[in-house]
Amino acid sequence: MSMHRGIMTDGLRRWWPLWIWGGVVILVAGWVRATVARDLAEGMEQARLRVQSMADLAAEHIEHLYDSADAAVKVATPLFTRDHDWNRLAADYDGWQLLRDLGRAQHTIPSLFMADQSGRFRMHAGVFPAPDKTIENRQYFQALRATPTDQAYVTEPVVGMILERQTLILARRLDYADGRFAGVIAANVDPRTVVELFETLGVGDRGVVNVQRGDGTILVRHPFREGAVGSKVDNRTVFPAMAEGKVFASNVTVSPLDGVERITSFRRLKHYDLVVLAAIPLDRIMAPWRQQSVRMVSIVAFGIIGLTTLFVLLLRRYHAESETLARLKVSEANLLQAQQVARLGYYIFDFTNDHWESSAILDDIFGIDQSFQRTAMGWLSLVEPGARWRMAEYLNGILNGEHDFDQEYPILRRSDGACRWVAGLGKIECDDSGKPCRLVGTIKDITQRKTAELDLKAKAEELIRSNTELEQFAYVASHDLREPLRMVSSYVDLLQRRYGSQLGEEALEFIGFARDGAKRMDRLVLDLLEYSRIGRITKPMSAIPLGKVFDRAVRALSVKIDEARAEIILPPDPLPSVWGDGDELSRLFQNLIGNAVKYRDPERPPVIRLSVAPADGGWEIKVADNGIGIDPQFFDRIFLIFQRLHRRGEYEGTGIGLAICKKVVEHHGGRIAIESVPGEGSAFSVVLPAVNAHAPQQ
Ligand code: ADP
Repeated sequence: MSMHRGIMTDGLRRWWPLWIWGGVVILVAGWVRATVARDLAEGMEQARLRVQSMADLAAEHIEHLYDSADAAVKVATPLFTRDHDWNRLAADYDGWQLLRDLGRAQHTIPSLFMADQSGRFRMHAGVFPAPDKTIENRQYFQALRATPTDQAYVTEPVVGMILERQTLILARRLDYADGRFAGVIAANVDPRTVVELFETLGVGDRGVVNVQRGDGTILVRHPFREGAVGSKVDNRTVFPAMAEGKVFASNVTVSPLDGVERITSFRRLKHYDLVVLAAIPLDRIMAPWRQQSVRMVSIVAFGIIGLTTLFVLLLRRYHAESETLARLKVSEANLLQAQQVARLGYYIFDFTNDHWESSAILDDIFGIDQSFQRTAMGWLSLVEPGARWRMAEYLNGILNGEHDFDQEYPILRRSDGACRWVAGLGKIECDDSGKPCRLVGTIKDITQRKTAELDLKAKAEELIRSNTELEQFAYVASHDLREPLRMVSSYVDLLQRRYGSQLGEEALEFIGFARDGAKRMDRLVLDLLEYSRIGRITKPMSAIPLGKVFDRAVRALSVKIDEARAEIILPPDPLPSVWGDGDELSRLFQNLIGNAVKYRDPERPPVIRLSVAPADGGWEIKVADNGIGIDPQFFDRIFLIFQRLHRRGEYEGTGIGLAICKKVVEHHGGRIAIESVPGEGSAFSVVLPAVNAHAPQQ
């Protein structure tokens, strides 16, 4: 839970600019929405005004058209009302001419006509005398006959009885003086004139203009639509304002004829029960608005998406950079700490300006402060005088680009004059022309290690010296010891030879002991001499074939082997060579095989088996016997000088043989080990270096 909150607050903390940006985006979106809505309202208002003015214009024209027709009707009316005599009128040729000329003058009104109370034509501008036809069945005739009125009656298009084409009729009632119905006078209005007028309005695709009677009956419609003219629109549902008798209004309506949604305006005519209506499809009006809105919304959306992406990318980069910076700070701190712990200082030496910059730790190691001259000479002045010449030469090599800096050298610390050892490392950096221009590196205080190293070196040298002295001493001593020994045995021999006959048996026995002792002493001295000689008189080592080594050892022991009837089993050929000294190796195996013969079990004939096998870095040679064996508790002791497990009476020996073996093996950089089961036998194993480890050409 707390972790969840941690992530949340972390997100808030890191991404707060995005939240602000989100707010800005919401504001922009709101503004876009408001603008689009305002544009729509404005567009609608403009469209409404346009449609209304169309309707007004059309209405004015229609009004004018009917007014002209009505004016003609009114002018012609006295032809009848003069005497109210239909028979006279029917025969009045002059009257007829007036009627015809009136019609011609108003080119939109092809003809005027009059009919009597029975509906019979009495005068018709198209023909004289009037044809014998009746309009008794016409609706306008019946309507005018039924009700006295001084209003003109306007019909839907009807087919004219005389002219036999579509016509709109404006009719007025004629009365006798006493008010009885006398007939009608009417004018034909050509619907094509109306249509021509409507065409000039340019209502465009799916736009409509029509003329309706007050009851909703469509009289003219442009464009023409089958079945539209004469049909009745229920304006209470389609356009209530019209049904309510308003003079003009605009609204969005859905046409009951084609189902198209339109902005519709109407204008009621002043003198006639007629309404002119203009309508333009809503989608056509909305098209520019829609286009503009889509363009605007997409520009803004693209802008927002683009800016957001940019913003996020920048923010991420900023975060990555600040994280890197933070990590860098931590690692710098760690580095500093590590340098402090390791006492490691660093420097940058600029050759061109002969100036170096250094870290605080380096300054501390050198014991210098800000006032110190950080130049090549300044550095040399710190170097301990004994090493100064060498370091000057070395620096010269660096300036010439011969090598990088890798030296340990003593300095005299400036602050307290103490001698300190430092290890300097540095890498040369070259300029574009390949000339060394900078040295960047570290200085480590290694005084402790160096002191210990020097101590150790001194001790090792001391050890070598005393060892050499000791060997020298052993060599000289054993050499010189033999001389008095020889003298003792010579004089004991002389004593026996000269006075042997005079001496008793006991004295002779004593002389024998003395001679024996001297002999043994000589043997000891010789062995010691040999021991001290190993590794001292060094011949250079070479590849020594093991076969030859074994042969030499076995040959040297042939008498003893024969005496003991020992069986020596050598490993099969070919045998490898080892890297070493032939004499020392022969001595080694002579001692091992000799011991194997010597410490045989009296119960069984001795069998000694030599084997060779590859071992880590060389060859392992095993000398195994079936002799008396050695108790494991003595394994370490037997390799020490003068250490024997048997008394002299049992087995001859000086206790030096295995010590020599160990020294030889160690001189060869190998190792010697023993395995044994007392009463069953022993196996000595020796590992000697292979030839190719030292001489690849072999
Ligand atoms: P030594 O002159 O007594 O033979 P070495 O140094 O050769 O001296 O041997 C030390 C001792 O190790 C011997 O006294 C002997 O007891 C024991 N030893 C050495 N080789 C063998 C062996 N092959 N079998 C049993 N004991 C051995």
